[in-house]
Amino acid sequence: MAEYAVRIRPPSEAGSLLLPLTMGCSHNTCAFCGTYDGVKFRIRAVDDVKRDIDRIARNYSRSVKRVFLEEGDALISPQRNLVAILPYLSEKFPNLERVGTYATPQSALIKSVDELKELNRLGLKIAYLGVETGDEELLRKIDKGATYAQIVEAGRKLKAAGITLSMTVILGLGGVDGSEAHALNTGRILTDIDPDFAGALTLMLVPGTPLYKDWQEGRFTLISPFQSLQELKLMIENSSFTHCFFTANHASNYLPIKVWLPEQKAEVLQLINDVLTKNDMSLLRPEYTRAL
Ligand code: SF4
Repeated sequence: MAEYAVRIRPPSEAGSLLLPLTMGCSHNTCAFCGTYDGVKFRIRAVDDVKRDIDRIARNYSRSVKRVFLEEGDALISPQRNLVAILPYLSEKFPNLERVGTYATPQSALIKSVDELKELNRLGLKIAYLGVETGDEELLRKIDKGATYAQIVEAGRKLKAAGITLSMTVILGLGGVDGSEAHALNTGRILTDIDPDFAGALTLMLVPGTPLYKDWQEGRFTLISPFQSLQELKLMIENSSFTHCFFTANHASNYLPIKVWLPEQKAEVLQLINDVLTKNDMSLLRPEYTRAL
């Protein structure tokens, strides 16, 4: 019987086998996040993980092509665990094409580039790094546990190791007061890291989180749907990529966007501008269909 309850994975890992290496999140203090509320963080024993792999491989050995390592930041697992599990996955699933993981900045910082290269060689092909914002003050406010410089270092290390990097940022995280600084500095951190993929979600307040309490008590004001587009526009205008697939098509977003940057920069800015000019709510995803 599996011992995990929360099943969280990036949209692009929808068809992947979800394999928890850890329980909860090693950081677990981000002010907006309630995903692992009440879940005590721990690292699963390698033998337990291998037993899960054996059980699944009995019926699906040839059909598993992708594996996503759960939970909140499986990359924090000790190197020896990952070095034992990744080859075991390749052995048990002969058609395995890639393994992915969530990463906190801390989980990438504690490993050397050589260690990350070793993981890449053993099958770890993509990491999803939660960056949230590039605004230093906001990083402190949300208790991200890492500075701008540390996040840039973490992102660059993953890339230097040959691991495809997908970054996530959150529109609206700075509220009305911090919106402009959040957009400008997030554009800056996206530029500094230059990821292969970047995803902008839109903040949805989760009851029980510190940010929800701030909102309830009037210390935080949510931006409007059109302000979130203004923020997105500012972020894209102020970012520069080598070649990045940029999405804002998560269920939390008001306007679905999927573009290659810089190739489609003018096109996407034109689209956002048009919607802002029309100021018509019917062009946006209805509030009741939004989801985390
Ligand atoms: S690092 Fe990710 S999973 Fe952990 S608390 Fe922050 S947002 Fe949530």
